Amino acid sequence: MLRRGFWAMRAAHQSQNAAYSSLAGSALLRSQAYVGGRWVEADGGGVFAVQEPASGQRLAEVADCGPRDAKAAVRAAYEGLPGWRVATSKERSNLLRKWYDLMMKNKDELAKLITAENGKPLNEALGEIVYAASFLEWFSEEARRVYGDVVPTPSPNRRILILKQPIGVASIITPWNFPSAMLTRKAGAALAVGCTVVVKPAEDTPLSALALAELADQAGIPAGVFNVIPSSKSNTPAVGEVLCTDPLVAAISFTGSTATGKILLRHASDTVKKASMELGGLAPFIVFDSADLDLAVAGAMASKFRNTGQTCVCANQFLVQEGIHDAFVEKMVKAMHKDLRVGSGFDEQTTQGPLINERAVEKVENQISDAVSRGACIVTGGKRHSLGGTFFEPTLLSNVTTDMLCTQEETFGPLAPVLKFRTEEEAVAIANAANVGLAGYFYSRDHAQIWRVAEQLEVGIVGVNEGMLSTPEAPFGGVKQSGLGREGSKYGIDDFLEIKYVCFGGL
Ligand code: NAP
Repeated sequence: MLRRGFWAMRAAHQSQNAAYSSLAGSALLRSQAYVGGRWVEADGGGVFAVQEPASGQRLAEVADCGPRDAKAAVRAAYEGLPGWRVATSKERSNLLRKWYDLMMKNKDELAKLITAENGKPLNEALGEIVYAASFLEWFSEEARRVYGDVVPTPSPNRRILILKQPIGVASIITPWNFPSAMLTRKAGAALAVGCTVVVKPAEDTPLSALALAELADQAGIPAGVFNVIPSSKSNTPAVGEVLCTDPLVAAISFTGSTATGKILLRHASDTVKKASMELGGLAPFIVFDSADLDLAVAGAMASKFRNTGQTCVCANQFLVQEGIHDAFVEKMVKAMHKDLRVGSGFDEQTTQGPLINERAVEKVENQISDAVSRGACIVTGGKRHSLGGTFFEPTLLSNVTTDMLCTQEETFGPLAPVLKFRTEEEAVAIANAANVGLAGYFYSRDHAQIWRVAEQLEVGIVGVNEGMLSTPEAPFGGVKQSGLGREGSKYGIDDFLEIKYVCFGGL
C-alpha cells in the first residue's frame, strides 16, 4: 500500500510540476506586493514560501508584508481615492470590463495558479476563474446603476434628495478556498462604486491575488485604486490590525472563519468602521421522504465534495428522513465510489484534491474519531488516503447524532455525516440549533412543505432541490454568526456606499 502511494505521489508531483512550470516567465507569476501601482518588496525585504498542498513543494517566495507595508498601502489607496471617486461610472465600468476580459483571456493560466497553490482540480479551478471574472462583469454593469432617490416632502418649500456615495478606502481580507472569486466579489463591488481597496490574501494562496493585480494593472486601473499586500501567518494579525484600525480606512470586508471575523469586528469597533463579514457555516442538507432520491444524491455529491469539501456552503450534516434513509446512504456511497477520484489537481481524472494543509486533515480526523467514539459507523473512507500528504479518503458516517463534533463545527473536508430523523419539525429544529446560518439545502416534492421549510430555515441562502447555488446575480451571505451584509447581486454594492440625505430648503 505504501509503495503504491509513493509511486502515485511521485507521478502526481511530476504532473504538477510540469503544469506549474509552464507558467515560468509568465507576467502573471508575481511575488512582490502591488502598492500604488508599483511592484514592491516588503519593508525589510522579508519573504515567505508558498507551498503546493499536493506535494509540500515550494512554489514561490512572496513578499511578507508587515504593518508598515499595510500603512503604506492604505495611504496609497487613500491617495488614489479622489481621482477614482470622481471618475464617471461609465469610466469605472469600462475599466472593470477590461479587467474581466483579461481574466477570461488568461483563464487557463489563472486556473493553473489556483490548482498549484490551492490544490483543487484544474476544471474546478477553471470554473472558479470564470465565476470570479463574472463578478467583474456583473459589477461593471452595476457601476452604472447606483441610483439615489427623490422623496416627496412634507413641506411645499423643500425638496429631499438621497445620494449614494462611495464610502472611501476599503480593506479586503480573503481566504484560500476561493482565492480569486472571494477577491473579485468584493473588489468588483468596491471599485464599481468609486472606492479604492487594499487586499490581504491568505498566506496559502497569495499568487492568485497577485496575478489579478497584474491584470488590473494591464487593464489600466489607476495607481492606488487596487493594492495587494501578501503576508505570512506570523505577520497577518498585525497587518489585519492596521487594516481594521487605520483612520484612513472607512470599511472592512472580510471572508473567512467566524473566529477571525470576531477579532476584526473588535478592531473595527474603535473607529466605527462599516464591516461586512462572510463567515463560516454549518449547512444542513435535509432529505425528506418525498424527495426525488436521485436528484438528492446528485445535489449531495455536488454540495459536499466540491473543492474537497472546503467551501463555506458545503453540506456539513445530512439529515435524512427515516423512510428514505437507508436507500439514500446506499446510493450516496455508490456515487462516492463511482464518481470520486483522489489525486493531484492537475490529473484529469481527479475530482478530490488534497486538503489545504495538515491542520485541515487533523480537524477531519478528529471529527471522525469523536463521532466513532460516540457510536457513529464508518460506511466508507475514514482515514488519510494512501497517496499520503494531505490527501484524505472521501468519508461517509452513519448513525450520527447531534452530540458529535461533526454536527457542531464546520468540517471543511470530505466528510459526510448522516443523521436519521422522523419528523419535519425535528429536522428543522436540528438545522436551526446552529449559531451560524449561511446555506441550507432540502429535497422535497411536497409544495406546502417546500414553502414551510424554506421560510423556517435560519440561513441566508436556501437550495430547494438544488445543491449548487452561487451566481453573481443572487445575494450571498449568512445570518446569525455567519456574517453581516450580502455580496454579489444588486445588494453587493451596498456595503461600499454611504447614503447621504440632502435637503433643499427655501424654494
Ligand atoms: P481564516 O483563518 O479566518 O482566514 C481567512 C483570512 O483571514 C486569511 O487571509 C487569513 O490570513 C486572515 N486572517 C486570519 N487571522 C487574521 C487576523 N487576526 N487578522 C487579520 N486577518 C486574519 O479562515 P480560513 O480557515 O482561511 O477560511 C475558511 C473559513 O472561511 C471557513 O470558516 C469558511 O466557511 C469561511 N468562508 C466563508 C465564505 C463566505 O462567503 N461566507 C466564503 C469562503 C470561506 P492568513 O492566511 O495569513 O492567516
